[in-house]
Amino acid sequence: AKEQGRKNYQFFTPELNSRAQERLSLENNLRKGLEREEFVLNYQPQVDFSTGRIVGMEALIRWNSAERGIVSPDVFIPIAEETGLIVPIGEWVLRNACAQNVAWQKQGHQPWRIAVNISARQFQEANFVELLSRVLNETEMDPQWLEIEITESIAMKKGESAVNLLNRIKELGVRISIDDFGTGFSSLNYLQRLPVDTLKIDQSFVRDISEDDNGEEVITTIILLARSLHLRVIAEGVETKIQYHFLKEKQCDEMQGYFFSKPLLAEDIERKFLSGF
Ligand code: C2E
Ligand code: CA
Ligand code: CA
Ligand code: CA
Repeated sequence: AKEQGRKNYQFFTPELNSRAQERLSLENNLRKGLEREEFVLNYQPQVDFSTGRIVGMEALIRWNSAERGIVSPDVFIPIAEETGLIVPIGEWVLRNACAQNVAWQKQGHQPWRIAVNISARQFQEANFVELLSRVLNETEMDPQWLEIEITESIAMKKGESAVNLLNRIKELGVRISIDDFGTGFSSLNYLQRLPVDTLKIDQSFVRDISEDDNGEEVITTIILLARSLHLRVIAEGVETKIQYHFLKEKQCDEMQGYFFSKPLLAEDIERKFLSGF
């Protein structure tokens, strides 16, 4: 009854206005967070099915806000996108991820790629390719070890400009991966023309792999598609042995997920995976 009362009451509050205020406050906190260096990167291994070796790390941002505590990227990335703050935040991510990977390579282990998420807003910035190039130079990163992850909708945006942009990025020597693949509406004809290297199967499809239903058909189709287009294919959100064995049998190239490792701080990556080198 109390719940009911609250709901009725809310009907009369200027809800839209308070949502706008909350957004504004989050934006302010984000801005300060950037100044106070409240962001940190986690890294999640990407593992080759056939060799069992780590071949990549996805950089995933974490925010420990003085005002709000830990805030999930699913909450603050969309606001950062809307307000444009994703541009400086994204630059910070790119620079730190590249610098970290160079530092790891200098420790002398087998090199692995670093995968960095790029949002639509960053991709649309007029100087995005220049930024990529500048960060690669400044961090002395060999471009072949950088992979950017963009979503299907960014890659599929029609018009020559998306293809041109992707071509310019490829010319730098950077790899391109399509994130959350299968959730958008890819035109296969168009996909064929895009200079991409990797399809990343969305974790919603991986979740469907179990003993009892038939959610696996989409995955099988994506793997075959990737093969015929000569693209690498990686499955994300791999959590169980059943999922692991299914994907391995279907000859998926790589996997990422809690089954192998959660995203970890750089120091924990070193402790777990780099000792012994
Ligand atoms: P995403 O790029 O699809 O990243 C995969 C998400 O799945 C990550 O959530 C990761 O922690 C989570 N994950 C990994 N393995 C498993 C698993 O086995 N099971 C389950 N249930 N989840 C798993 P996270 O780190 O919370 O990031 C959420 C989203 O926020 C990302 O989705 C990405 O879209 C965005 N994001 C994160 N970091 C950045 C960044 O630096 N820049 C941009 N632009 N976006 C970012
Ligand atoms: Ca991603
Ligand atoms: Ca994803
Ligand atoms: Ca199933």
